[in-house]
Amino acid sequence: MAKKGAREIVALICSVCKNQNYITERNKVNMELKGKKDSKLELKKYCHNCRKVQIHKESSKLK
Ligand SMILES: [Zn+2]
Repeated sequence: MAKKGAREIVALICSVCKNQNYITERNKVNMELKGKKDSKLELKKYCHNCRKVQIHKESSKLK
């Protein structure tokens, strides 16, 4: 498939301890087409720092 370079790398940080645990890709064009460009990803993932599942939020600041 054609790559349009619209993908954005975002970090997923724990909402509790702010630890950056995951890095994911977000398709910016897709988000804008859906009218959700301002919405933030929120995923429940395991945080190694908290040692339990926490809400992780996206952050454009990669460490
Ligand atoms: Zn945590």
